[in-house]
Amino acid sequence: MERVIIIGSGPAGLTAALYTARANLAPLVLAGGIYGGQLMLTTEVENYPGFPEGIMGPDLMERFRAQAERFGARIRNEDCTRVDFNGGRLRCWVGHEELEAESVVVATGASARWLGLPNEARLRGRGVSTCATCDGAFFRDKEILVVGGGDSAMEEAIFLTRFGRRVRVVHRRDHLRASKIMADRCLAHPKIEFVWNSVVQDVHGDPVMQEATLQNVVTGELTKIEADALFIAIGHDPNTAIFRGQLDLDDAGYIRSGDGVSTNVPGVFVAGDVFDQRYRQAVTAAGSGCRAALEAEKHLEHYAAVH
Ligand code: NAP
Repeated sequence: MERVIIIGSGPAGLTAALYTARANLAPLVLAGGIYGGQLMLTTEVENYPGFPEGIMGPDLMERFRAQAERFGARIRNEDCTRVDFNGGRLRCWVGHEELEAESVVVATGASARWLGLPNEARLRGRGVSTCATCDGAFFRDKEILVVGGGDSAMEEAIFLTRFGRRVRVVHRRDHLRASKIMADRCLAHPKIEFVWNSVVQDVHGDPVMQEATLQNVVTGELTKIEADALFIAIGHDPNTAIFRGQLDLDDAGYIRSGDGVSTNVPGVFVAGDVFDQRYRQAVTAAGSGCRAALEAEKHLEHYAAVH
């Protein structure tokens, strides 16, 4: 029987690991085959407090990991493939291996949707990004494209006007999905232009992005334009497939938390983007990882008292 199993290894999961390790709970972290979360996909992180010169996303996650391990967290780079929280037991599987815990922290995150362009993966972190707050400052006085017509795209576009020479929002329809207030703010912004009824067909440049090919979906016409950055803001998907039927999820698939970081199952806590649609920052994820760890610790004291 494990005291704590932590599922996920982004800032939320590894902060929960650090705190529960320092509480002598020897947490087991199921870090995932692709560990480290979304920061592994970004380049320089300039807004994580404590690193005034910035730090590369993967380096930051290595430090999170080393710090948790220093206090006794055990980290397995394997996916949790199934959970069963019924009958008062908290069981997790890694393939055929069954594990049981007295408490579980779910920190599996949410993944930004990508477009799947031919050159997208090659130019990730070299112009192509899904996070304006992470990467916007690298494109001072540059030509920036944003894809999407929802609130996220509007928010990213407005934020990016601080840096870009011009921000062009490419939307596949001629009507925005965004709330009126956000849409109006963008439509009135002197630095933002809209490219309606259009999709990005591919991005080009080596080693960094320099151009994009757009296609007008009404006429089929292809246009190549100069662009240094492409911010994709077409939504996120929470990584909650294994929790369906086990934890309360909202309509978008995010885990519902009661007050703070608790779930509908006693002993199971949440942290990070898997329940937080609003802030989605590394530092807020780390903060909720700390809260989940403290709640798990409190739950375990109660567990010890009744067992
Ligand atoms: P969203 O509302 O689902 O919008 C996604 C946008 O991306 C839509 O305009 C959609 O086009 C477009 N899109 C989806 N797949 C695409 C593809 N493959 N190619 C091109 N375009 C594609 O997602 P979101 O903007 O991330 O917002 C999610 C939720 O968070 C919403 O409820 C939103 O209100 C909320 N939110 C609020 C704020 C705020 O209030 N400040 C900020 C961010 C998010 P179509 O319109 O054609 O479907």
